[in-house]
Amino acid sequence: MVHEPAVPFLEIEAVRAKEFVPAAKEALTALLAEQGHQKVVQPVFNWAGRNSLFPLHWGLACCAIEFAAAFGARWDAERFGVVPRSSPRQCDLMIVNGTVTWKVAHKLVTLYEQMPEPKWVIAMGNCATGGGPFRTAYSVVPGVDKLVPVDVYIAGCPPRPEAMLDGILVLEKLIRERKE
Ligand code: SF4
Repeated sequence: MVHEPAVPFLEIEAVRAKEFVPAAKEALTALLAEQGHQKVVQPVFNWAGRNSLFPLHWGLACCAIEFAAAFGARWDAERFGVVPRSSPRQCDLMIVNGTVTWKVAHKLVTLYEQMPEPKWVIAMGNCATGGGPFRTAYSVVPGVDKLVPVDVYIAGCPPRPEAMLDGILVLEKLIRERKE
């Protein structure tokens, strides 16, 4: 036997559309008028952004193994809302996880440019930070900051998954304090 709900669903929806939505709109409009758009909307935007970072799903060199491990069951980076996506158009975070060669540099910049704003970059490991053990090689970019702006640097060769998670938490703190 199917039990009818005490208040039919459509009725609840009608009350919501009639009373709750206009009241909420009115309250928000008043709040915006009183405090200004930046003060009200920006913290909400920052909160949503820092709790749902979507890093680009890619790998450059050995640091990428640690990057991959961070999303496994043991470290479970997704509990921080960090979910790798395979299209740069759906990403707001580029974790540069390995040696950057001049050969791959233009591809890296293209991927970065395809990511929508606001976007962030983490240089993971010594190679991405400054070329690492290959710094003097003719083929290696001595730091990914020569190509794209870097927000957080993570030291190590390779940094462990915990270090990558720590870098993400540092980035979240930066986003929390972001003004625009
Ligand atoms: S920092 Fe070390 S582990 Fe990471 S890509 Fe460079 S050589 Fe490999």
